[in-house]
Amino acid sequence: MPGAMHTIQHGTLAVPASAESAYELAKAYLSRDRVERHLFHRLEHERDGRHFRLTTNHRNDDHFDPSDNTIAWDPYSALRTTRGGRQSPALGLGHEIDHAIESAARAERLRDRSDTRYDTADERRVIRGSETHAARTLGEAVRHDHAGSAYHVATPVSR
Ligand SMILES: [Zn+2]
Repeated sequence: MPGAMHTIQHGTLAVPASAESAYELAKAYLSRDRVERHLFHRLEHERDGRHFRLTTNHRNDDHFDPSDNTIAWDPYSALRTTRGGRQSPALGLGHEIDHAIESAARAERLRDRSDTRYDTADERRVIRGSETHAARTLGEAVRHDHAGSAYHVATPVSR
């Protein structure tokens, strides 16, 4: 189908045209938090030569793949925390962006260091850092571990 692979370039981030509205909605929402606003700026203005790519799915699959600098995101997958709180799909995107924009060398070291509560030191960094900051600003639940269960919602900013 012509245009199916069309992407929209946001500086150093490529977003598929089909995901553009979800990305913009999540970005506008998260940017009410200054830490998240800074993460988006770094993602779109990476200065170390990396170019990032966003892909979307409907499999509750949020992750960052450092081998090809791709962020996978399900824009309709919210998270129920282990304490019963709720987090929007947008907050999940912010979480993956924080993984992505950390320097590749430091992120690799942190991923290799295990953490009893957060699985890895990199998860601890992201969850206790930007994720918690944004959750407090936006009135979402704060996590105290790297767990939770996914559930489907109508928009990237629903929970
Ligand atoms: Zn993570």
